[in-house]
Amino acid sequence: MTPSSAEIIQAIEAVEPYMIRTLSDFVAAESPSGAEEPAARFLESALAELDLDTERIMLNNDQLKDLPLFACPYAPDNGRYNLLARHMPPNPTGRSVLFNGHLDVVPTGPASMWTHPPFSPIVLDGWLYGRGSGDMKAGIVCAMAAYKALRDMGLQPAGTVGFNAVLNEEDGGNGTLSTLHALKNAIAKARLTDFEATIIPEPFAETMLSGQVGVFWMFIELTGRPAHVAYMNTGVNPIEAGIAVMAALKEIEAEWNRPENRHPLFKDAAHPINFNLGRIEGGEWNSSVPCTCTLGTRISFYPDMAPAEAQRIVSECVHATVKRLNSSLSVNIRYEGQFAPGCDFDLDAPAMRTLALAHKKITGKEPEQLACTATTDARHFRLMTDMPVTCYGPEARNIHGIDESVSLASMQRVAATMMQFMVDWCGVAPASQR
Ligand SMILES: [Zn+2]
Repeated sequence: MTPSSAEIIQAIEAVEPYMIRTLSDFVAAESPSGAEEPAARFLESALAELDLDTERIMLNNDQLKDLPLFACPYAPDNGRYNLLARHMPPNPTGRSVLFNGHLDVVPTGPASMWTHPPFSPIVLDGWLYGRGSGDMKAGIVCAMAAYKALRDMGLQPAGTVGFNAVLNEEDGGNGTLSTLHALKNAIAKARLTDFEATIIPEPFAETMLSGQVGVFWMFIELTGRPAHVAYMNTGVNPIEAGIAVMAALKEIEAEWNRPENRHPLFKDAAHPINFNLGRIEGGEWNSSVPCTCTLGTRISFYPDMAPAEAQRIVSECVHATVKRLNSSLSVNIRYEGQFAPGCDFDLDAPAMRTLALAHKKITGKEPEQLACTATTDARHFRLMTDMPVTCYGPEARNIHGIDESVSLASMQRVAATMMQFMVDWCGVAPASQR
């Protein structure tokens, strides 16, 4: 009854039209962080087509706010919800797995910069284009396709398989936090004990995640003194101060990137620590010294540094710089959105070894390991549960950029690896037992 790797690859080839169609519709269901519902609704129907029992887990930040991994919300609850679907064999004999992926996508930037409209998916030369195609709707589709292909063979996993689609990954992670809180506290029908391992198919080109940096968002609000430019020297310019503040922060970034200061997991990374000025707001008039300036920054740090310590170091730098520039400048620092400790992952756990072996059976090669210079929701599983977790997903291009796309060939390999994993880890039973 157990399918061979060759049969698995063939079964996944047969579901390629399903994968393209499902991913296209999923991408077209626009789901910016804070307004993910169109994608949640689409996915709910796609999961129902696979006969999965799906429940909604409502986001309730009030219930989450005292948890250590809680991120100060950047968007209101607004009736938003995660989905948690489960395949439960009638007589489970195998081990279980949870696939977790985020529904939300980042802003597109000007649509005019895209070759094709970002929410009108198109396949060209083996790549499917659209915002969210790679990050990370394709990965979710790979997991569903693996399950579908197994069913199409008249089989089913012999253990529980969960599909958890979450909101708010890109701006804080309270979506996955909400799932784990619900699983632990009997708020959901499902329980944490239903699952023995988690795979998050983020678009990391078929590598297995071995660690990730910590990340937080920091908003720096500077207030100066406005004046007519004719008497500019009587004013204090907070935008120009913001440029100086950012330059000072970049010195810390350079310091942390120096080879001797690196965490061992990141010793070979090109530029592990990235302080990004992602947004800037301020000013009223070209001929007026502005009143205010707000810098929206993203700061990262190594797994062995506590977030509070990183916040202390960068905020001291901001305050010292502002003080040095002009005593009549004022500054307020706000932490909102991302708040994530860094961590490493145990890839020697049996489930992770099984995944690595599944990848080898499908591709003929050991998977490479990746220490990620961004954060992922894997941290919640690593820091809040005993479950082994990693990220493993397809190859994508230009995520968070223009003309984002995902490789269909890579999706095939990832879906086949996931199917192989289900076969090896969960075992299989005839589908008729359902
Ligand atoms: Zn992602």
